[in-house]
Amino acid sequence: MKYIGAISFYLFLTISCKNDTNPSAPAPKKSVQIPAFSADNAYAHIEKQLAFGFRIPGTSEHKACGEWIIKTMERFGARVIRQDFNSDFLGKTEVPSFNIMAQINPNKSKRILLGAHWDSRLIAEKDDERQDEPIPGADDGGSGVAVMLEIARLISENTIDMGVDFIFFDAEDQGNSESQDSWALGAQYWGSNKVPKEYMAHYGILLDMVGAEGAIFGREEYSFINARDEQDKVWTLAARMGYSDFFRDDTSGAVMDDHYWVMKNGGIKMIDIISQPNDNRSSFGDYHHTHDDNIDIISKRTLRVVGQVVTAVLYNESIGVL
Ligand SMILES: [Zn+2]
Repeated sequence: MKYIGAISFYLFLTISCKNDTNPSAPAPKKSVQIPAFSADNAYAHIEKQLAFGFRIPGTSEHKACGEWIIKTMERFGARVIRQDFNSDFLGKTEVPSFNIMAQINPNKSKRILLGAHWDSRLIAEKDDERQDEPIPGADDGGSGVAVMLEIARLISENTIDMGVDFIFFDAEDQGNSESQDSWALGAQYWGSNKVPKEYMAHYGILLDMVGAEGAIFGREEYSFINARDEQDKVWTLAARMGYSDFFRDDTSGAVMDDHYWVMKNGGIKMIDIISQPNDNRSSFGDYHHTHDDNIDIISKRTLRVVGQVVTAVLYNESIGVL
């Protein structure tokens, strides 16, 4: 994916996500059981996605994978809304594409939005060979979807007193280097045409490339500027859980990812958990947009760390202690 670079402007959000608290009346200490995230399940969800083939919008493999995501989320008790749209990318026009919005506890007012893209890239432009052929997208696409599906299972088995929404964005990863707007087409569309209508969340967390061996998550810069408090919460909790080696307290290059459009078009704060493992957090893993983005680079430890942190964020938010 996507453009990385210096920030040239701020996004202006019209909403406030702060809780109203009364400092003179401290709330009694609450606690909540955080269920254990299964990296084995998440890993199997990546294998399953890869088994469908390349998830390129407009193909039968893509459609079958999307239908499996919908069925799986329904099995976990979510109310699912499929949002169809057409996308133009890499010389193709009017390609049938769809976002999948899956809601748990749809009537609760406090909600957290998790997101990932479920398409995989049509070309391998960063590879040395077969640059015009598709990539498996085990990490780039597959990992975020897998972590979300496992979290949905946990919630289905461990009641949570909060709304949790899972949005699977389509056509994120079909852009070109000439145009920043050519990426994240599903998020651009959803941000301007939200389903459900008037949808709002406390804040969102995007998961992109969260499963590779050697992953390092710095504080992505658009999130840092536009959703600093929310990013602080997640990174602080990760540190408390002993995962500072994954969630580094340093600034990471700005990425024009789905979260950018959820904020800009949709007016919802959203942070990005995205691996930029090089020393100055300015580039993605070596496998990025190559044929090496396959199951061999996936680490169950990385999946477990990310999955457990996000799960802890949700259950702590549900009792208002984060
Ligand atoms: Zn990508």
